[in-house]
Amino acid sequence: MVLTCSDPVLKSHLQSLGDRLHYLFIASQAVVAETLPESPYQMAGENIRVAVLPAEGTKCVRCWHYSPQVGHDAEHPHLCERCTAAIAGQEFA
Ligand SMILES: [Zn+2]
Repeated sequence: MVLTCSDPVLKSHLQSLGDRLHYLFIASQAVVAETLPESPYQMAGENIRVAVLPAEGTKCVRCWHYSPQVGHDAEHPHLCERCTAAIAGQEFA
């Protein structure tokens, strides 16, 4: 998903989440942009506009998030980077 935000304070908070922004929206990927891409699935709130697009990558069989990193570990070819770390008992950064 891609979102734009007209409130500079809210936009700053959203951007501060970086790679973790998508967890706020329970989505596979999320990014704050200056303009929205074309999408048949758009919605607008008071300060936020959202466009939903297909996520990049492959669906992880454990968490169901789509990630380009699924298969990065040959020992766990159907897991994303977060799940590979989780089952190894490591904290994901
Ligand atoms: Zn996963």
